[in-house]
Amino acid sequence: ALEHALSKFQPTPPARRQASPDIAVSVQELTEAIENGELINYYQPKVTLHSGVIKGVETLVRWQHPSKGMIMPMQFIALAEKHGLVDALTLRVLDMALAACRRWHDGGLKLSVAVNLSARSLANTHLADDIVRRVQASGVDPHLLVMEITESAVMDDLGASLATLARLRLKGIGLSIDDYGTGFSSMQQLSRVPFTELKIDRAFVDGVSEKPQLRVILESAVAMARKLQITSVAEGVETLEDWRLLQALGCDLGQGYFVARPMPGPDLVGWLKQNSAR
Ligand code: C2E
Ligand code: CA
Ligand code: CA
Ligand code: CA
Repeated sequence: ALEHALSKFQPTPPARRQASPDIAVSVQELTEAIENGELINYYQPKVTLHSGVIKGVETLVRWQHPSKGMIMPMQFIALAEKHGLVDALTLRVLDMALAACRRWHDGGLKLSVAVNLSARSLANTHLADDIVRRVQASGVDPHLLVMEITESAVMDDLGASLATLARLRLKGIGLSIDDYGTGFSSMQQLSRVPFTELKIDRAFVDGVSEKPQLRVILESAVAMARKLQITSVAEGVETLEDWRLLQALGCDLGQGYFVARPMPGPDLVGWLKQNSAR
């Protein structure tokens, strides 16, 4: 059954023309880009490691610059954070993700959609209310939305983070610990936050089949998720060997180039059709 599931995955088309990694962008440009709809969402599948069934997608923003090409989030998220634009960016990305989720749902696809939340946003107590309002207006079941927050962001100021995160969770929105393993939180700390998912950073996943020392970290992360009774997700699954190993460790979901690269919403529907046709 696994061989069958794995053989389903088709290579996704190469990325579109990307801007050079050291391209300079200004705050002014970014402000306008957020307002003018130059940001677009890519989506990357999260599938069960056991059987390869798609459970949801992670939203990854890109800036489709009219002349500079496609700019990756690493090139503008920090700028948005520094200049107080990141909440506006998050809400834009969220609106698009909710609209996509709604379309998929109307087409018979019940997929959860994850949106990344910046560390900077955690202290803004109004943001949780804004998010909840938008989910309600969209008609999307809040249980289908997951907010991903990096481990270090939450632990840096647990008190402030808790206020925002608990508000979201109370409405049914899922909460994922992103980049798990890069911070130093204890199980006791993690258990204070109502997380529903633990995402193991790709630094511990990529190449694990060749590096036994990573295996120990993965094992303990999966065990921790199980104790907390939350879903474990491995990001950055790039090879069949990594997949097999994670599956043997009992990790629930996998995400990575081995399954599919992030892709625009319309391509996702095509990818799903192609991969469920067999
Ligand atoms: P992240 O949340 O850890 O997202 C995973 C990153 O790993 C994505 O990079 C994804 O394209 C990449 N990736 C996925 N599978 C593989 C794989 O198999 N191998 C390798 N080498 N990489 C893989 P991306 O799209 O460039 O995003 C980078 C970071 O930018 C994200 O890291 C996230 O922290 C941030 N980001 C992206 N979208 C948003 C957003 O809407 N809001 C905020 N605040 N941050 C965002
Ligand atoms: Ca993420
Ligand atoms: Ca990561
Ligand atoms: Ca690799």
